[in-house]
Amino acid sequence: MKLLEERIVQDGRVLSEGVLKVDQFLNHQIDPALMQAMGEDFANYFEQKGITKVITIEASGIAPAVFTGLSLDVPVVVAKKNVGITMTDELAAADVYSFTKQQNYTISVSKSVLSKNDTVLIIDDFLANGQAALGLMSICQQLGAAVAGIGIVIEKSFQTGRSLLEEQGADIYSLARIRSLENRQVEFVEENLS
Ligand code: 5GP
Repeated sequence: MKLLEERIVQDGRVLSEGVLKVDQFLNHQIDPALMQAMGEDFANYFEQKGITKVITIEASGIAPAVFTGLSLDVPVVVAKKNVGITMTDELAAADVYSFTKQQNYTISVSKSVLSKNDTVLIIDDFLANGQAALGLMSICQQLGAAVAGIGIVIEKSFQTGRSLLEEQGADIYSLARIRSLENRQVEFVEENLS
């Protein structure tokens, strides 16, 4: 997605060879117009897949997931990192290793919001080593829901996530694919002129 690639070049900051900071438009300050365009792009790609729900992990997946749900006209489920006292229903849970915090955390989804009647689209802001998406796939599997695909805003293609998820048979659609962050430069996998 050209608009997103331009924004990454303009406002993204390469923190190291493995980490990109995009807090000016994606996960701290949010650009709603860009989010809306991204949601429409995800919806266009996955619209024939019979999706009944979008799922993401709090917090930075929520904005792109909500705009995707809006475009597909389906509800959005947010897997919780901290289970509050209001989550009284039975839960499905999975452990996830956090790429940015370098520690494990547990994500939980109530059985009341996802079931075997659902076909799910997973949305997340980044794909690094695929652990967040794998955790969401595990929750869908536990609840009997089918995973129709995975939509990623920024894929770092030089890390292991894509191949790991493809081994699980996932259809992955990324709006921007980064080939390298070496020398503090963002290089994309290919010129995407859409
Ligand atoms: P994975 O689970 O694929 O290893 O990592 C994906 C998760 O880690 C995303 O949900 C995202 O929040 C975070 N993440 C991974 N790489 C980056 C990055 O380069 N920059 C930022 N801001 N977050 C990242």
